[in-house]
Amino acid sequence: MAGGAYVVIALSFGLAGGIVGKIKGSSFFIWFVISAVVPVIGLLTAIFYRSERDELRRQCPTCGRICMLHDALCVRCGTELEFPDGAIAAESNPSAAR
Ligand SMILES: [Zn+2]
Repeated sequence: MAGGAYVVIALSFGLAGGIVGKIKGSSFFIWFVISAVVPVIGLLTAIFYRSERDELRRQCPTCGRICMLHDALCVRCGTELEFPDGAIAAESNPSAAR
């Protein structure tokens, strides 16, 4: 019955990942499939997915790339990033002035 147990686990993770994805405004089906195929990683990805979009961002002064606020180095040009005075609002909430 090992196969049956795997199916139960995959469906459980699939449902959990799908629900998390749906709550976060993404596709239930996509996250269901991802979480069912790679149970633990898929679910974690679904949970992490939106938090990345909710991060405050700022612009690299050298190359202009939009970086995450917590990044210490620009991932494109390698410029060291000072902690900024102002941040660009999160991608998921562009109207909020922060
Ligand atoms: Zn840069």
